[in-house]
Amino acid sequence: MIKVIHKDDELSIRLAQKISSRVPDSSNDQLLIVCVGGDGTILRAIHEHINELDNAVFFGVKSGHLGFFADYTEDNLDDLIHALTSAQYAITTYDLLESCVTADGKERHYFCLNEFQILSGSRTIHLDVELDGLLFESFRGNGMVFSTPAGSTGLNKSLDGAIIDPSIEAVQITEVAPINSNAYRTIGSPMVLNIHRSIVVKTPEPTPIEFSFDHEMKTFQAFEQLRIIASKRKVKIAQIDAVNFFERIKKAFL
Ligand code: NAP
Ligand code: MN
Repeated sequence: MIKVIHKDDELSIRLAQKISSRVPDSSNDQLLIVCVGGDGTILRAIHEHINELDNAVFFGVKSGHLGFFADYTEDNLDDLIHALTSAQYAITTYDLLESCVTADGKERHYFCLNEFQILSGSRTIHLDVELDGLLFESFRGNGMVFSTPAGSTGLNKSLDGAIIDPSIEAVQITEVAPINSNAYRTIGSPMVLNIHRSIVVKTPEPTPIEFSFDHEMKTFQAFEQLRIIASKRKVKIAQIDAVNFFERIKKAFL
């Protein structure tokens, strides 16, 4: 089945109509999801299909400025239509990151392609970071971000995190406005860890926070703990230039 999802601006709507009129109805079990807009549109589509990822391939059509994951444009729609109808396309597979959040008396699991954020809003929060069971540091500040390699070019980059090759299984921890004093001391530099390390962040007492997974945000009144998990879930994004990670970065940033 082919689904076309679009952002709500004029160009995206027009491109989505053009694509829809050219793709045949198909009863194939494979879910091909065309996302017209940008990375934000792909992120939304991924979260809408978070329980069907095994069977889904996402095609990004860029209608705005960035589109780091979106390879197709109005200029190569013929290639897109050909890929969709012939089922011949190259894909890049990205690992999702999973987290187990204990808050408001419950345990919940979340997934992200880019990152998780714990943010405090206008006050500061105290987070104890435990790595492989060791109390590594006590953070006080506005928050912490846990990015995937795929997300390393997103918010992580704005926080001076490193760009990570998405073929590496890693998670990167960055700090948002840390207070460093006699009472609170954090490492200060972004840390890139193997995804199979034990990474747990706890508050000394239940605290209100905003928790984000990619573009989505939840407010918790009594956050207690976040545990990072190497997820088994993966997302497949069709790409014109399947493995050219460097070209992708060059096109977006240089
Ligand atoms: P948004 O506020 O509309 O987009 C933020 C920008 O980040 C857009 O230009 C988006 O591209 C781009 N982007 C998203 N994922 C990216 C990636 N993996 N590599 C490079 N650029 C990426 O929000 P959104 O479109 O819903 O996307 C949510 C993501 O935006 C978050 O997961 C976070 O990574 C990023 N973000 C960045 C900042 C920051 O840098 N200060 C702040 C908030 C969020 P498109 O224009 O193609 O959508
Ligand atoms: Mn966006």
